[in-house]
Amino acid sequence: MIVGVGGQGVIMISKVLALLCQSQGYQVKQSEVHGMAKRGGGVFCHVRFGEEVWSPTIPMGEADMLIALEWAEGLRWLPFLRPETGIFIADTQRIVPPFACRNRAVGAQTAYAKETPAEILEKVSDGYALDAGGFASELGDARAANTILLGALSASLDFADEDWLKIIAKFVPKGSEKVNERAFGKGRDWIEEVRNNPDEMLPDAPPPAMPAMPAGDVEINLEIVDAWCKSCNICVRLCPERCLELNELQIVRLNDPDACTGCRLCEWLCPDFAITVNRVRLNNNRKGKREAA
Ligand code: SF4
Ligand code: SF4
Repeated sequence: MIVGVGGQGVIMISKVLALLCQSQGYQVKQSEVHGMAKRGGGVFCHVRFGEEVWSPTIPMGEADMLIALEWAEGLRWLPFLRPETGIFIADTQRIVPPFACRNRAVGAQTAYAKETPAEILEKVSDGYALDAGGFASELGDARAANTILLGALSASLDFADEDWLKIIAKFVPKGSEKVNERAFGKGRDWIEEVRNNPDEMLPDAPPPAMPAMPAGDVEINLEIVDAWCKSCNICVRLCPERCLELNELQIVRLNDPDACTGCRLCEWLCPDFAITVNRVRLNNNRKGKREAA
């Protein structure tokens, strides 16, 4: 099973896996539910392959692998994992749903799953939690997080790397084949390293909180990657201060900078990583000096 939220590439992973299995001579059945994807809602896919496959869906407790692109979605689907032998691979990325952010006071905790990776990994037979989003950003393209997870998944299946990469290249945006190849290798290397040194696993991350504003004057600016904005309107509709809009090219822009509180909801909710909220502290003692806040 592959799970996550809309825009993360859940369906891309399931299609790569299904096509790869088919190309290796297996019978494959794949099914997906993505009705709420456009609102940042849950998306899940079942992929079954073998000599002969009768049903497209996996019954509860019978998934051999559960791949989660978002932490809370991974927890939601854990009952589907085979308790004795199932493999759980989850990105620790937390995409906070809008209703979990109703308390927008600075520093307020969001109503998000409280379980830490260590608590969850103790409950599964074979579990891995990784910062796939962070690894992908280090490689230069935050959108390649799903390919990092494919690399991690590949270490448990007996298919050649070149066959994986051939299929992945069919699904990634043109020009991003190289970064996705590196992302695949990174996911594969990471999981092999952790299997050899289980203590190397990520430290527990605390549940997300609304960012605390530092003291003093703070300048907020939004970095928007136009090419990554696909005009879905999610950020515009969910910005609590109503200070975003789509321009004449249907690309998001900040239309009222004074109203923006820097709450980062738009950054968390954008499925395409198109927005980064920067908060810069203006140091009044030394005129002109700025520090990242
Ligand atoms: S950071 Fe600013 S633009 Fe983004 S959701 Fe918050 S108030 Fe709106
Ligand atoms: S920036 Fe806003 S409109 Fe553009 S893809 Fe992200 S959420 Fe959608």
